[in-house]
Amino acid sequence: MAGIYLHVPFCKQACYYCDFHFSTNQRYVKEMTEALCAELKLQKDYLHHEPVKTIYFGGGTPSLLTDEQLRRILDIIKSNYSIAGDPEITLEANPDDLTPEKLESLRQIGINRLSIGIQSFNQDVLKYLNRAHDRGQALRCFENARKAGFNNISIDLIYAIPADSHDNWHQDLDQALELQPEHISSYSLTIEPKTTFGNWLRKGNIPPIDEEFSATQFEILMERLTQADYEQYEVSNFCKPGYYSRHNSGYWKQEKYLGIGPSAHSYDGVNRRFNISHNPKYMKAIAESEIPYEEDILTDEDRINEYLLTTLRTKWGADLGKMAYKWEYDLLSEQGAYLERLFAKNYAIIDDNHLKLTKSGFLLADKISSDLFKIKI
Ligand code: SF4
Repeated sequence: MAGIYLHVPFCKQACYYCDFHFSTNQRYVKEMTEALCAELKLQKDYLHHEPVKTIYFGGGTPSLLTDEQLRRILDIIKSNYSIAGDPEITLEANPDDLTPEKLESLRQIGINRLSIGIQSFNQDVLKYLNRAHDRGQALRCFENARKAGFNNISIDLIYAIPADSHDNWHQDLDQALELQPEHISSYSLTIEPKTTFGNWLRKGNIPPIDEEFSATQFEILMERLTQADYEQYEVSNFCKPGYYSRHNSGYWKQEKYLGIGPSAHSYDGVNRRFNISHNPKYMKAIAESEIPYEEDILTDEDRINEYLLTTLRTKWGADLGKMAYKWEYDLLSEQGAYLERLFAKNYAIIDDNHLKLTKSGFLLADKISSDLFKIKI
C-alpha cells in the first residue's frame, strides 16, 4: 500500500514561525494546479502501481484551491493510479477558509478527513504567531465541519510560545477537549533561522525557546490528552481509538509514498527524492516534462538510522527482528550498554521483540534515536 502527498505552495500570509515552502503571491495558483496534474501523470509509474490507500493535500494552504481545482487533481489521481478501497483523503485547511459552503463542497469532492491548522484558541497567541485566523473562526469552522458531516477531524496545536503561560496552555487544551476532535497533532514551537522569528531572535527581539518550559508543556499535553482517552501513538500525535492518521503512519512505517509539487519528498522503498523548492523553476521543468528532483541514495546505515528515528517516535517502536533480518543489525548487542541505561531510567522497554520508548523516553525521543544511530563507516 502506498500514499500520495500533494504540496500546495501558497499561503495568504506568512506565519512568523513557518519554515515550510510557500509563497504569499497567489497569482500562479491556476498554473501550479496544472503543474501538479502534469506531474501526477509523469510520475504514474513511481509507486509501481501499488494501491494508493491515502491521499494528502498539504502545504502551504491547500484549502486555498477552488473546488474545481481539487476535483481535477483527484480525477487525475483516480485515472492514473490504482486506488485502494476506502482511501483516506485528507486536506490541510486553515480556519478562515472553511466556510459552510466550502465544507459542503469538500465533502462532495470526496475529502473525508480534515487537518485544521488551529494552533491556538488564544487571540493574543494567534496574533503573536501572525496567523490569518482568529479565535472565533477557529471555533466556528470546527462546528461547521461537524455540521457538514466530517467525522474525522484533526487539529494542530502549538506550545512553548515565548511569554505564554501554563494557564493559557491548559485553557487551549480545555477548549480542544471540549471540541473532541478525533485527532490532535501538537508540536513545540521551534525557531528556524530563515523565519521572521529567526530574524527577531538574532536581533534579540524575542527570547529563545525555553527548553524546560517546553518540556513541562509537553508533559501537560501528554497527561491531559491521555486522561481524556486520546492515545499517544506518536510523540506529537494523539487520537481517539482507531483514528490514526493513516497517511502519516505510512511515513513512520517506511511505506512508499509519492510527493507531488515543489519541495515534496518521495520514497520508493529504496531511495528518497526531493523536488526543487522553487515555484517558477518547478513549473518550468514540469512544462518541459521534466521532474526537477534530487535523489538521496541510501546506504544500509542511513536506513537503520532513519528506521530508529521514525519508529522510536511511535508507540509501535523499532522491530528488532526486522532490523536483524533486513540489515543484519543486532541493536541489543551493538548498543547493549546504552540500552541498559535507558531501561534502568525507565526511558525504554523491550516488548514483543520491539524497542519502545516510555512516556518519559518520548520527552527525549530524538536524542535517544541519534545516540543509537549506527555510525557511518
Ligand atoms: S499557513 Fe501553514 S504553511 Fe502557511 S505560513 Fe502558516 S504555518 Fe506556514
